[in-house]
Amino acid sequence: MNQKININNLVRANIKALKPYSSARDEFKGTADVFLDANENPFGDLNRYPDPQQKEIKDKLSAIKKVATDQIFIGNGSDEVIDLAFRIFCEPGKDKVLTFTPTYGMYNVSANINNIEVIEQPLINDFQINLNQLQPYLDFEDVKIIFICSPNNPTGNSLNPDDIEYILENFNGIVIVDEAYIDFSAQASFIKNIDKYDNLIVSQTFSKAWGLAGVRVGVAYASQSIITLYNRVKPPYNVSTLNQEAVLKSLNNLEEVTQNIETILEERTKLKEALSKLEIVKKIYPTDANFLLVEVEDANKTYQYLIEQKVIIRNRNTQVKNCIRITVGTPEENNTLIETLKLV
Ligand code: PMP
Repeated sequence: MNQKININNLVRANIKALKPYSSARDEFKGTADVFLDANENPFGDLNRYPDPQQKEIKDKLSAIKKVATDQIFIGNGSDEVIDLAFRIFCEPGKDKVLTFTPTYGMYNVSANINNIEVIEQPLINDFQINLNQLQPYLDFEDVKIIFICSPNNPTGNSLNPDDIEYILENFNGIVIVDEAYIDFSAQASFIKNIDKYDNLIVSQTFSKAWGLAGVRVGVAYASQSIITLYNRVKPPYNVSTLNQEAVLKSLNNLEEVTQNIETILEERTKLKEALSKLEIVKKIYPTDANFLLVEVEDANKTYQYLIEQKVIIRNRNTQVKNCIRITVGTPEENNTLIETLKLV
């Protein structure tokens, strides 16, 4: 039913009316000998503005992910993908978004920055969506975006794909499926559904499985109409030349990326086993990501103790009682963690 959604009806009035900035590099695209159009400095190695449309990256991603280049947006981290969604679709002080908690903290922060109320629905039964509780909100016109993080941070599990599809079928606003951790999971990506649902945005990132958190590049896959809106509101040169080059290098070296993912997954299994033997560990939640949510006797105490030993993990006690979140590190880092925990 929802493939018939007219995305333009969801867009803020000022964005609909926006005349986007047209950069020098947008206006002239071909090859030339002399470029005196962008007030750049003629000297140096990084004196030219980057490609505002990140064409080379999109061409590579298009081949790998089997989507058209005009269904891809490249952002300054996937945090930019999230923030721009608020700016495109949510009228400050009026519209609302919905999240399933506990989840990634930036949805809330971005909402607060944009003066948007967040409706929080607790995940139930080992952190799955409660469709019954959600049902009335699917018809609320003021709810513009539903955020679904799968695999979810900080719980690590994937959300049931049938539930996600149900939401896509029955909600008339935008659905953002945040797949920051998808490459660590055996679950299929929702990218395959972007032609079916005009209101679906699948967000991925180079920060996790690709090992490029320092580079700040995230990706949105969506219908052409949504990608066009993203391109209208983004800062003209939102991904630097250095960042684009770093991503391209990785895209040309897929073997190393795959190898690193395999190593992380092997280490995840070993870490889980070692943790399960510790007396302070009460429960290790199933994970599809590169981290483990672990219930311990006293999360605050464990966290504080580890800090004193110069081992930093994330204390998630306020989100899930007595839980800590541990990122899978190198074999040496994981060993240090386990040996330190033995002495708590
Ligand atoms: N989504 C989720 C679920 C995350 O956990 C994170 C980062 N921790 C992000 C998005 C942001 O990633 P990026 O580095 O691409 O901004």
